[in-house]
Amino acid sequence: MNLRVVNPATGEQVATVPVFDAEQVAAATRRAEEVFVSGTWSRRVPRDRAAVLLRLAGLMERDAELLARLDCEDGGKPITECRDGDVPGAIESIRWFAEAADKLFGRIAPTGPGHLGLVCREPVGVGAAILPWNYPLAMAAWKVGPALAAGNSLLLKPAEATPRSALHLARLAAEAGLPDGVLTVLTGPGPVTGTALARDPRVGALSFTGSTAAGRRILADAAETNFKRVSLEMGGKSPQIVLADALGFGDELVENMIEAAFLTMGQNCTAGSRVLVHQDIAEEVLARFVAAAAKLPIGDPADPGTRIGPLISPAARDRVAAAVDAARSAGARVHVPDLPGGLDPHGAYYPPTVLTEVPAGEAVLTEELFGPVVTVQAFATEAEAIGLANATPYGLAASVWTRDLDAAVRLARGIEAGVVSVNAYSEGDLTAPFGGWKQSGFGGAEKSTTAFDQWTREKTVWIRTR
Ligand code: NAD
Repeated sequence: MNLRVVNPATGEQVATVPVFDAEQVAAATRRAEEVFVSGTWSRRVPRDRAAVLLRLAGLMERDAELLARLDCEDGGKPITECRDGDVPGAIESIRWFAEAADKLFGRIAPTGPGHLGLVCREPVGVGAAILPWNYPLAMAAWKVGPALAAGNSLLLKPAEATPRSALHLARLAAEAGLPDGVLTVLTGPGPVTGTALARDPRVGALSFTGSTAAGRRILADAAETNFKRVSLEMGGKSPQIVLADALGFGDELVENMIEAAFLTMGQNCTAGSRVLVHQDIAEEVLARFVAAAAKLPIGDPADPGTRIGPLISPAARDRVAAAVDAARSAGARVHVPDLPGGLDPHGAYYPPTVLTEVPAGEAVLTEELFGPVVTVQAFATEAEAIGLANATPYGLAASVWTRDLDAAVRLARGIEAGVVSVNAYSEGDLTAPFGGWKQSGFGGAEKSTTAFDQWTREKTVWIRTR
């Protein structure tokens, strides 16, 4: 059985990939375990593992244009985002984790003189990673880097829609000298291939990025089987909080807000999909924001000038359209530009949309839409802003715009989210951990040295000395 990969800008099939069923997944995990036990990778000197991964980063650089094109065609992501953001970011991740491979120290317990308590950090064995379609190569690199640097074998399941960059990554890893069976890409639908991984007794750790609904299922599957360690990075409904002095940032303010809202057509876990703006400047910020959104170039994602390409599928586009219609029927004002002429009629396009005057309690204010739709709400006090910011089940990211340092710190402390940016839209660089709170995340952060917590386990070796 095969999966069709369809370019969402044209509706055309660009590839087919195999579906790995439960039996084939079991065979792959058995092989991954054999390779782990053999020690060809897991017990290799960490510096040598680093060398292979650094070669992989070099090969990704060589094939950067191809990798960018694969994510652009499979996911409809603007090529400029892939070329300038995802692909260089993925290369940097592989390099960063490669360089960390021989810098992971254990600890010595502060015991008395009669003992030596070594706390060793060891790989988990067979790991699995399940990826979303919005940042296919970038999310693969966040997981492949630390998992392999730590010595694990890894089974990588890309999203149905965007498998080809992961498949190419595995080819490059083989070319870089990674032993056979250390990194295996298993394509297929979540409820088939993903579920088989989540229920496999040989998988010791599973790192998932995707929707909260699938994360909940995976956690249940792990609990019902071998209690594999599960790390979940899930959805978000992140606020952009704009305080009364923020107009002082000039054009930078709205440019950043637009990027936060509409990067990857808003199909971004950290999308700043709720603008919370102080009432004194709400009218002006809204006017500038709506005008800037209307100017975003919409078009073929393969065109370097495009900022807004299609959504991932016609079904996603229809879901977003239905949510906007529901908000409109409930009384919201909808600010939406027309789609330009000349777009491929089979492309899943939806224009960048701003909703105001949304009645309290409407789903669009609290549920992740995963599309180019932003709500704008005004607030009067910091306490009100914090209350609105935290009034969702999610807690992934937030941004705060102000020159008032004290206010920024108060807000950053009050917001329930894994990453709070001040005067920026950013999740930080590779040195800073990334992970969600509440229903956005669970079990361990990505990036930074904390990423190794997902892929290693501690062992105490207790030695009596004489
Ligand atoms: P999704 O949950 O539908 O799919 C993600 C992956 O999980 C896919 O590979 C899919 O095949 C697999 N999957 C689905 N059901 C499964 C199951 N029952 N068992 C095992 N695997 C299963 O999500 P998506 O639509 O690909 O991605 C969008 C979601 O991902 C959004 O909610 C977004 O916020 C989230 N996301 C989060 C982060 C983060 O770091 N927090 C980053 C990117 C995307």
